[in-house]
Amino acid sequence: MITLEHIHKSFGDNHVLKGVSVAVPEGGVTALIGASGSGKSTLLRCVNLLEIPQSGEVHIDDTVARFAPSQKVSRELILALRRKTGMVFQNFQLFPHLTALENVMEGLVTVLKWPREKAETRARDLLHKVGMSIKADAWPSSLSGGQQQRVAIARALAPSPKVLLCDEPTSALDPQLAAEVVDVLAQLARDGTTMLMATHDLRLAATIASNVVFLEHGEVVEAGPAQQVFRAPADERTRRFISILT
Ligand code: ADP
Ligand code: MG
Repeated sequence: MITLEHIHKSFGDNHVLKGVSVAVPEGGVTALIGASGSGKSTLLRCVNLLEIPQSGEVHIDDTVARFAPSQKVSRELILALRRKTGMVFQNFQLFPHLTALENVMEGLVTVLKWPREKAETRARDLLHKVGMSIKADAWPSSLSGGQQQRVAIARALAPSPKVLLCDEPTSALDPQLAAEVVDVLAQLARDGTTMLMATHDLRLAATIASNVVFLEHGEVVEAGPAQQVFRAPADERTRRFISILT
């Protein structure tokens, strides 16, 4: 189980996250939905400490990070949380100078110090899982956006993270290419991969999410099982948000 408790994050005067608490059940997909600017990306980035919250707590497994203003977060803690998370970005962010296979191996070899052979075996398994085996030796620039994102998903999964963080994983893609990525994410969801996914694509959320958290202006308006939030939202603001987009 991953929990975020009372997370506050400001950029200067902009109070972006206002005491956000989210529970991410193990083995499920939690969708973070909300309008652009509501704080979804910032919240994801607070989980792996790409952003450091001013206050609140992040719990992943037995690792707990507690934040307080003017208290520095140790490098060790940042690395510990990074190792328990994998991140998939909207714009893929593959290393352009590495092949698909090398992209997936990179973290295993350089960060986790795996021998190359073992890393390659793991990377080939993951490329197979995302349907990219035949492109193992391809350069990112020769791949479609959907293919690049599938490699990025394999790369994020390589160190066996406790949670896969996905930030708008399909929104840079044409519908057809988005569909291949949704298929891969849906398969991972069926396999029990724990995910926290920011998306404004309600169809994606409805397809694979087990739980939904609706953020508005940096506050959780409503959270619950996906069926319940989508079919019978308790809050008027959730109802409005869902009806605009469906
Ligand atoms: P969402 O992902 O829901 O669209 P974001 O988390 O990207 O929302 O942004 C929420 C707010 O935080 C926005 O007002 C945005 O301008 C601000 N913000 C996000 N990242 C930064 C940053 N690194 N520096 C300053 N402001 C930021
Ligand atoms: Mg965002």
